Amino acid sequence: MLLPELEYVRPSSVTEAVGLLNSLPDAGLLAGGQSLINVLKMRIGGYRTLIDISGLAELAVIDHAQGHLRIGAGVTYDQLIHSAAVSLYRPILSEVAARIADQQVRNRGTIGGNCCYNDPTCHFPPILSAVGASFEILGTEGRRTVSADEFFVSYYQTALNPGEMLVAIEVPEARPRSGDAFVPLSVGGTDVLNVVTGAASVLLAEDGSIRDARIVVSGVAERPLRIAAVEQALLGTRGDGDALDAAFRLWDGNQLTPPDDVHASGEYRLAMAPVFARRAVEEALVKARRDFDE
Ligand SMILES: Cc1cc2nc3c(=O)[nH]c(=O)nc-3n(C[C@H](O)[C@H](O)[C@H](O)COP(=O)(O)OP(=O)(O)OC[C@H]3O[C@@H](n4cnc5c(N)ncnc54)[C@H](O)[C@@H]3O)c2cc1C
Repeated sequence: MLLPELEYVRPSSVTEAVGLLNSLPDAGLLAGGQSLINVLKMRIGGYRTLIDISGLAELAVIDHAQGHLRIGAGVTYDQLIHSAAVSLYRPILSEVAARIADQQVRNRGTIGGNCCYNDPTCHFPPILSAVGASFEILGTEGRRTVSADEFFVSYYQTALNPGEMLVAIEVPEARPRSGDAFVPLSVGGTDVLNVVTGAASVLLAEDGSIRDARIVVSGVAERPLRIAAVEQALLGTRGDGDALDAAFRLWDGNQLTPPDDVHASGEYRLAMAPVFARRAVEEALVKARRDFDE
């Protein structure tokens, strides 16, 4: 299917991109194009002008300072995989990037585009929610930062207002005795389409008990969902089988109405959500405990 006729502009800075976004009628940002081009071809949504931000060097930078990684919105999956800073300070992000699609998609697709598209099957929204990322947004009024819990609003919707763009994602560096995990239930092959994803980040105290836990499921609600009751119940426990059984008994999906589609029924998604969330917690705990073995 061919693209509809479009105008195309290529700004030379982030400031210019935001200016164009606010001055051109019906304009949208083009990052890696790995989702947007399909959306345009299928006429599901449309813009009259594409503002191509894929060449903006200032969006393609990964920095580490003061205990945080700052990852530009235009950083590709391939850059994440090969970044020494990401592998050192929050390796789960490299691991998740490496699981996405194929090399062609990883060469073009960006972490910012993945989050702004916010499809419930996307890899980054659940893991960035689990690691407590924050999102730096630029508009004509200036910069603002929101948490992951605020950024992902609903299906294909984020906290970005019209005329705003995502410029960077800030992720706290992993702490000693902590572990992160990403465990999707995929159909069509490993990670091809994640119908439900469990993601978790745990931090252990010096005595090995759980000091902090962030547990997220996606694919069952309009946004990645933190399971606060389970997180709370695990605090102070050692995360053994009994503690996990007791905590996950508090999972209550009754208010959720996940969609039925060709990939999975809503009922199946609801049944699988706590299973994959629990697997993510178990995997994160194994990683966190490695620091006691060394
Ligand atoms: C064959 C194939 C397989 C795929 N498999 C997976 C998979 O397994 N898991 C997965 O997560 N994804 C998968 N994808 C989607 C891919 O990860 C996309 O790269 C991603 O969804 C969008 O990133 P992008 O950089 O390509 O953004 P684009 O497609 O260019 O943009 C997506 C949306 O985000 C907006 N946007 C982009 N950047 C910004 C910004 N900085 N500020 C504001 N808005 C912005 C755009 O305007 C657009 O609305 C697959 C894609 C293909 C083609």
